[in-house]
Amino acid sequence: MTLKYCQGTSCHQYATKDRLRGTKDNKTFQTRRRSSFYYGRGNFCSLNCQNDWWQVHGDNAVDHFGRLTEPKHLTEDNAWVKDYDWRNSTGDTDNRFYYFVNKVTKEQRPLTEEQYRDNNYTLNER
Ligand SMILES: [Zn+2]
Repeated sequence: MTLKYCQGTSCHQYATKDRLRGTKDNKTFQTRRRSSFYYGRGNFCSLNCQNDWWQVHGDNAVDHFGRLTEPKHLTEDNAWVKDYDWRNSTGDTDNRFYYFVNKVTKEQRPLTEEQYRDNNYTLNER
């Protein structure tokens, strides 16, 4: 199992017992290290650490990946969202009906469960 470090810029400054690591006379508070984290797509040990990172790097990140300088518009070409509902009355929890719905035109198109779960599968123009 690969361990990874929390990317929080101040993680080591939260002096909690679990961060105190090292040999007997040489203990320091250290950045948390785990096999997985719950925050920021697995990059941060806590919401505090995610917020700390954002405070330091957020502006640079937005500038780097493209700051919006004009509004985006919801049109029928980019209004597809995935949804599902239950299409039988037997209480069978495995019988979901997956579909795309266009938030502008209200058109619906069926989806397979695999397409529903595929985060890269979309009808929207980028
Ligand atoms: Zn952290």
